[in-house]
Amino acid sequence: MARIATFFDAVWSILKGMGVTFREMVRPTITEFYPYTRPELPDGARGIPVLLSDEEGNLKCVACELCAKICPPQIIEIIWHRGEDGKGKKILDGFNLDASRCMFCGLCAEVCPFEAIAMSDVYELTTDDPTTFVYDIKRLAELGRKQTTPITNYGVKTTYVGTEASGKTVPLDSVVTRPAVGQPGSERTAVSQ
Ligand code: SF4
Ligand code: SF4
Repeated sequence: MARIATFFDAVWSILKGMGVTFREMVRPTITEFYPYTRPELPDGARGIPVLLSDEEGNLKCVACELCAKICPPQIIEIIWHRGEDGKGKKILDGFNLDASRCMFCGLCAEVCPFEAIAMSDVYELTTDDPTTFVYDIKRLAELGRKQTTPITNYGVKTTYVGTEASGKTVPLDSVVTRPAVGQPGSERTAVSQ
C-alpha cells in the first residue's frame, strides 16, 4: 500500500513540474535585450544619490551634514568652511560619496531638509577601476543637473543614459580618487550657496 502511495506521489510531482514547464512555454517572453533594450524604471527607483541644483545651477546643499550623519555605512564625506572670516554661514567645498558601499536606502535624501540630494536612476556603477566608485561633488552635481522629473519618493529621473547601445559605459567628466579626510583634494570645487 505504501509503495502505491509513493508511486502516485512521484507521478504527481512529475505532473506538477511538467505543468510549470508547459505554462511557461505558452507565456509571452519577458526577457529584455539589455543593455540594447532598456527597462522603464518606475518613479522613485533608487540608483546612486545625486546632488540637486537650483534654477541658477547652484547646488542646494548647505553642508548641514545631516545626510552624512544618518548614512548607515558612513560613506558620505562633506568638506566645508565658514565664509566671512570664519564667522559666516557654511560654504560647501566638497562632497564625496563612495558608491561601492551605498545601500541605496534613501535615508540621505529623506533626511535632507533642502531637497538638495535625491536618489537617481543612475544604477550602472560597474567599473574596472575601483577608485572611480567615489563620486566627488563635481560628478554628483553633474548627474543632479540632468534631473528631468520632480522629486518622487525621494528619487528623480535624469537624462543620464549610462550604457549606450554599444554596451559601453558613457564616461563622466570628472573621475577622482577619494582624498584623505582633512587633506586638500585636487578636484574639489567650491560651490556658492
Ligand atoms: S545634501 Fe542635504 S542633508 Fe546633506 S549636507 Fe547637503 S543640505 Fe545637508
Ligand atoms: S542611500 Fe543610504 S547608504 Fe547610500 S549614501 Fe544615502 S544614506 Fe548612505
